[in-house]
Amino acid sequence: MDAHLGKLARWLRMLGHDVTYDPQVTDTALLEEGRKRGRIIVTRDKELFQKAIKTSLNAILLKNDKITKQLKEIAIRLKISLELNPTRCSICNGMLVKVSKQFLTQKVPKRSLKAYNEFWECQKCGKIFWPGIHWKNISKTLQKISKSVNTNK
Ligand SMILES: [Zn+2]
Repeated sequence: MDAHLGKLARWLRMLGHDVTYDPQVTDTALLEEGRKRGRIIVTRDKELFQKAIKTSLNAILLKNDKITKQLKEIAIRLKISLELNPTRCSICNGMLVKVSKQFLTQKVPKRSLKAYNEFWECQKCGKIFWPGIHWKNISKTLQKISKSVNTNK
């Protein structure tokens, strides 16, 4: 993921995709990583896109700056479903594991512990996730994009 696509990286992780993103990464390092790990390069940068294609890497050149339109481009291109899938940490790309409430009394506000039954913890950075208001809004946005993807065909 190129250095300007932090938001898109977070959204794709929320869909459960394995996305590396480093705002400091150089083009060279990014292409190297793509080659080594067989990753798809996603970029807004035409030059970087050309470089990737030339070295026969799989690459996507995004046309839009808006996150919803970028997601639509990706969904069409990679045929991925736009549904929340809590397996990846949106912050660090670490794997999430389900944690039962009893272990979270120090980590999650009481109100949220009461209101929700499902919690996930990132094994890498320790962040806790639960399907709160934020998730619901994201889910709604994803549904909207999904619809526009389907009507586009
Ligand atoms: Zn994490």
